[in-house]
Amino acid sequence: MMEITLTCPECGSGVHIVPTLDAKLAKCDICNHDTPVKFDQAHMEGILKTCPCCERKDFYSQKDFNRKIGVILFVIAAIFSIWTYGISFIVLYLFDFLLFKKLGTIAICYKCASIFRRVKNIKDIPGFDHEMNDRIIYSDHDFEGKPLSH
Ligand SMILES: [Zn+2]
Ligand SMILES: [Zn+2]
Repeated sequence: MMEITLTCPECGSGVHIVPTLDAKLAKCDICNHDTPVKFDQAHMEGILKTCPCCERKDFYSQKDFNRKIGVILFVIAAIFSIWTYGISFIVLYLFDFLLFKKLGTIAICYKCASIFRRVKNIKDIPGFDHEMNDRIIYSDHDFEGKPLSH
């Protein structure tokens, strides 16, 4: 089943939901704001074509890596390296490697920054494109699911 993390438009918190055909609203646990969502049969099958939040069709894919955790681990390794003569960095490297291998690829909506996990058609979703991002965010351009070809 596809897992979705919306960004609450009110407070910016992550709202976790799984697609259900009768779901119309996703409630934020932090501020209780309801975000309208719209799921179709494709979502139920784990196929991402249309964003359930903003109904756009433009997504990019990236490794599911939590940057915050990465930074925290690096700081911890740096502190411990004083006593371990740098061994903690090797441990961090190995940890990172294992973590990275385990992580899947996620899809992200350019427009509303919703995150989609366990997307079946993840291979069809291209990586991040700066030009597309700028045009969607700053000029509200709608690519309608057709990525820029350079
Ligand atoms: Zn909220
Ligand atoms: Zn969206």
